[in-house]
Amino acid sequence: MLEKTMPAKGANLGVDLGGTKIEAVVLDTQGEVCWRKRVPTPQQNYDLTLAVIAQLVSDAKRDTDMASSAPVGIGTPGALTQNLSTKQWLMKNCNSTALNGRPLREDLAALLQCSVFLANDANCFALAETLSGQGKQLFPDDPPETVFGVILGTGVGGGIVVRGKVLQGANAIAGEWGHNPLSTQCLNIDGERPCYCGRVNCIETFLSGPGLTVSYQMEFGYALSPEQIIQAMRQGDANAVSICNQYRQQLALSLAQVVNVMDPSLIVLGGGMSTIPELIQEITSVMKSYVFSDRFATPVVAAQLGDSAGGIGAAWLTR
Ligand SMILES: [Zn+2]
Repeated sequence: MLEKTMPAKGANLGVDLGGTKIEAVVLDTQGEVCWRKRVPTPQQNYDLTLAVIAQLVSDAKRDTDMASSAPVGIGTPGALTQNLSTKQWLMKNCNSTALNGRPLREDLAALLQCSVFLANDANCFALAETLSGQGKQLFPDDPPETVFGVILGTGVGGGIVVRGKVLQGANAIAGEWGHNPLSTQCLNIDGERPCYCGRVNCIETFLSGPGLTVSYQMEFGYALSPEQIIQAMRQGDANAVSICNQYRQQLALSLAQVVNVMDPSLIVLGGGMSTIPELIQEITSVMKSYVFSDRFATPVVAAQLGDSAGGIGAAWLTR
């Protein structure tokens, strides 16, 4: 007699390794989230971080009847870079500095005894929004050919998805537009803003939350938090309204330059600043004056998946 076995509930497992939390997400065969668990990130402790990830992976696979050898996707801050003398792939550019210089993918593969796919958090965000979020909603029959996913938060990052796959790039920096300079001349902006990366006037120094504060301070001589600026703008304060209008112009110009290079099918905006509707409303009409085309109809929309996008995107890495 043939034994009937229940199919596994879980199909794809992803882990979002963030600075404050680690979240594991399991997608079922339909691509829907069927399991998730979130725990705090151990601070400045690499080995403990690996152990916490291993426990989450083990729980997820057990609870959803996945094979223990099933691959795992990991979304991280930063990216892998190859050490040319040792040929080892090591983490770089992580704000969680305990990861920098560590062979994270290799260590996890050894610990978990399965294949590990790794991408940075902006790439995971872009992939999640393409396949589970706005891309799925706006292109229900066929995923959009190319998507530019943007994070406007305490920093500014981005990721590119082409035909449902993350574009890594030859140096693993595809989509990292946040450290391109903003064309300040084009917007009549005076002064220089130093960026932590060593350059000046990076897009991040304008479009991040802290960047909005700097814009206000440079114009009016005193600092307000992004929340205070938004509140004042909503109360009709003329200074705050003008700074928010400037922000929209800066965002529109920065995005239009991406459009002129890769002309994506969809642009999805995530991160804290994207949740303020006034900053992104009618952004496509503002972008039109900067895009090198008489026709511009690309959807530019706020993200749908919230802060679970990282884990969902990491899970899609394994499919
Ligand atoms: Zn920079």
